[in-house]
Amino acid sequence: MIVMKFGGTSVEDASCIERVAEIIRTRLDPHPVVVVSAMGKTTQRLLDAAEASAAGDSRTTLGLVATLRASHLTEAARLFSRDTTGQSVALVERYFDELAKLLEGLAILGEVPPRGLDKILAYGELLSSAILAGALNQRGIGAELMDARKIIKTDDRYGSASPIVDLTDRYVRKTIEPVVSSGKVPVLQGYIGSTREGATTTLGFEGSDYTAAVVAAALEARDIEIWKDVPGLMTADPALFSNARTVKRCSYDEAAELTYFGAKVLHQKAVYPAAAKQIPVHIYNSKDMSAAGTEITADPGSCVNLVKSIAYKRPVSVIRLRTRLAAGGAISTDDLFKAALDVLAAKRVPRLLTAASESGVVMIVDSAALAGDRGRFIYERLSGIGEVHVESERGVVSLVGDGLGNSGRLPLDTLSSLGEIRGEMLFHGPSPRTVSIVVGESEVKDVVADLHNTLFAEIDERVFC
Ligand code: ADP
Ligand code: MG
Repeated sequence: MIVMKFGGTSVEDASCIERVAEIIRTRLDPHPVVVVSAMGKTTQRLLDAAEASAAGDSRTTLGLVATLRASHLTEAARLFSRDTTGQSVALVERYFDELAKLLEGLAILGEVPPRGLDKILAYGELLSSAILAGALNQRGIGAELMDARKIIKTDDRYGSASPIVDLTDRYVRKTIEPVVSSGKVPVLQGYIGSTREGATTTLGFEGSDYTAAVVAAALEARDIEIWKDVPGLMTADPALFSNARTVKRCSYDEAAELTYFGAKVLHQKAVYPAAAKQIPVHIYNSKDMSAAGTEITADPGSCVNLVKSIAYKRPVSVIRLRTRLAAGGAISTDDLFKAALDVLAAKRVPRLLTAASESGVVMIVDSAALAGDRGRFIYERLSGIGEVHVESERGVVSLVGDGLGNSGRLPLDTLSSLGEIRGEMLFHGPSPRTVSIVVGESEVKDVVADLHNTLFAEIDERVFC
């Protein structure tokens, strides 16, 4: 068995879906299980519709839903011939009726509770999977539409739920294996699941990758194929740096570290289930099947370049906290550190990077996490502990490669190439394979380009293309 995941850009319209059907046809031998994201920008539109509805702006809500409905039905009509439109189109219509009712509910509530939002966002994947399954059947590829809400069981952290592994494994095997054995292609929604009680949950940004990895681990699949509209994992975000090259091979550790430090090519948690079961992850381009893509495994072999890829995150904020040298005795650095962690944990603000010494604590967080009331709460609490200084409009650029940590020596050659960079802070050590540099937010692009030009001036042809 293999698991194939298709992202939103790979199924954004009828011609993309046709291409996806033909890709699936080439993989029928190894028995594919298909996981699909919402079409194009559907999830964002659903989010906008939910917010507009809660704000009492029914005009905007109705407009957004009408646009979504029209685009889904138009693409469906282009995919199905008249005699097979029946089932799939009826399902699409039914989903839009359900969606309209849920959105009306929000207008009455006047707010968007996280639980209600997940229920609404799930329709993006419910719609795309119904259309893809219909398109496969229409093309003679026997597909069975499954409901991930009955298979992926999660905790109740709406918006970023985590699968309950043993329960989900059992459900995946029980529901998907028989379909595969019957010779059919199971098609299920990425990104969504439900709590033990059955309330719909979502797994967070790019969560479909995570679904694919969880399903593959449960089925002990032979391979995970992530189909996107980029050639693979690249040496830098191709949207930021057009000369980026494709990384043909990298390790689970490198991929996990890259996604953690901002490479949006994969869901941050998708690497772990694959690594735990030693299932290779392949990233392929759905618009160019002949391209090499990226293979992620435990042992990708040697590489002359120490760095495999450059990731970035912006905007981030640097929070500095020092003990206040006031009369009455300052608190110890240990207590200061612990109190600082507690304040961020109270608001569930993840720290991207943290450093502490006798003189104080530095924590780097996503700037979005410090917006509004949450930010005020954090600032006030930290001010109660010590002297706080927050610098916003910063970015973190991270160099990642197993080679940086393998030698047991500091990667001084690589670091010396940073000489010209106007970096404000350097982190190396917590993960030996990563060097992170804090720079001004507006300088991220130039810094990535400069680093790329130096670090990949010569490339190991066996690893990059
Ligand atoms: P999908 O619709 O399949 O989820 P996306 O549009 O999310 O596909 O594609 C992945 C995105 O990841 C691209 O927009 C690309 O700009 C971004 N990205 C960031 N870092 C990298 C990287 N190192 N390699 C490839 N893509 C990257
Ligand atoms: Mg995406």
